[in-house]
Amino acid sequence: DAELADLGTDDSSREEAPDSGPLPVVAVVGRPNVGKSTLVNRIIGRREAVVEDVPGVTRDRVTYEATWRGRRFTVVDTGGWDPDATGMALRIAEQAQIAAELADVILFVVDATVGVTDSDEIVGHVLRGSGKPVILAANKVDNQQMELEAAALWSLGLGEPQPVSALHGRSSGDLLDVVLDKLPETPPQRFGAERGPRRVALLGKPNVGKSSLLNQLAGEERVLVDPMAGTTRDPVDELIQLGGRTWRFVDTAGIRRRDRELKGADFYASMRTRSALERSEIAIVLIDASEVLTEQDLRIISLVIESGRAMVVAFNKWDLLDEDRRYYLEKEIDRQLVRVPWALRVNISAKTGWHVDRLVPAIEKALDSWSTRVPTARLNAFLTDLVAATPPPVRGGKQPKILFATQAATEPPKFVLFTSGFLEETYRRFIERRIREEFGFAGSPIDVTMRIRE
Ligand code: GDP
Ligand code: GDP
Repeated sequence: DAELADLGTDDSSREEAPDSGPLPVVAVVGRPNVGKSTLVNRIIGRREAVVEDVPGVTRDRVTYEATWRGRRFTVVDTGGWDPDATGMALRIAEQAQIAAELADVILFVVDATVGVTDSDEIVGHVLRGSGKPVILAANKVDNQQMELEAAALWSLGLGEPQPVSALHGRSSGDLLDVVLDKLPETPPQRFGAERGPRRVALLGKPNVGKSSLLNQLAGEERVLVDPMAGTTRDPVDELIQLGGRTWRFVDTAGIRRRDRELKGADFYASMRTRSALERSEIAIVLIDASEVLTEQDLRIISLVIESGRAMVVAFNKWDLLDEDRRYYLEKEIDRQLVRVPWALRVNISAKTGWHVDRLVPAIEKALDSWSTRVPTARLNAFLTDLVAATPPPVRGGKQPKILFATQAATEPPKFVLFTSGFLEETYRRFIERRIREEFGFAGSPIDVTMRIRE
């Protein structure tokens, strides 16, 4: 059996394939206790036992990067959220639905020692209707005798069950080979060629005013779209007319629904955030300016950064701010949002409508930046002057040179510098800053990497 012994996140490969675009997403789904998290740990090559035997423990992280046979992909662990017994079936179906939306490939884990349960049937039903490739992992097949039990899982109608032991690693390499087979060569274009309305994710922790802003924006012209056929879900997106164009606000059903009191709501919310980001081009991150910035605000911002989407940060409830609060807010922003000096900022009041009209110009600007392509000749002329004025620091007695540069991608913009030697991180950041100043990428992340030519 192939083992996953040397599987894991390989940092050295990052420098080589920096501009390969978003990674394909593998979501691991299944009811509690089938071994999802054990399997995720094995896939990402994490040795230490982080699997909790305590039910209902919320694990914070959701996505991980993994490599198998040189292919990189993102693994989404839906195991961190254990639904309550009440309403469990519905929750599991919903969890599977979200996973299906955000993933390119779904890894459905079933406990072969238990066989097919009602919950497994429900998940199977949702996944069969998802249109996404599904791989059925028959877990806890710790030895050969147990492979017979795995065969019983054919009844789910999802094709051949792949026997595996997440705990011992048995056949886990074979399973990953099957996963690799189903991964798209390049992740599918998430917004299609003829692009339709631009897609906006409205994000923020509970009570920041997402629903209020949505109502304010949508007014009476709200159109509900995309009822998902054959499921119990609410409509997913809303088309909203703003500034003479139509915008698609993704997963507004999730915003309007009040599931914040649920156990595991945090984890659930972060899955939704991630899923909304996958489907959008830009995020509006709403922050309650009347209260101190929280971990949760920063976590949402981190997810946006990780996603490579354009970003507008909207400080809401401005009507509640007195002079003192305004002063401290600016301090908090200086201290805590240093990672995203590029994000566009607006101050608004969703309740009164104050300055809400400033959102549209901000998201238009950010999307423009996100799609900007700098012509190669212009980029190289600019860099030649820049390097002449401020050469890279000498390393090992040698002066590295930038031989050539190109913008390898847009949405988000990615620049590749071909160099004759290693450029220090600080120098690369300097270049990134100057590219921003010169070409204007307000509201968009940009990425600058180097390729060393011998
Ligand atoms: P999750 O709730 O689906 O994420 O499940 P966990 O990964 O937390 O695993 C639930 C329990 O099943 C833990 O006690 C694991 O040690 C155990 N388990 C997971 N995979 C295997 C396996 O391949 N064989 C056996 N025997 N036990 C396993
Ligand atoms: P959500 O959970 O993010 O959707 O937040 P809601 O839109 O439900 O808003 C939560 C609470 O904050 C409600 O009581 C709103 O009336 C209030 N709220 C939202 N925006 C504002 C605002 O700009 N100013 C004030 N004063 N209250 C607001």
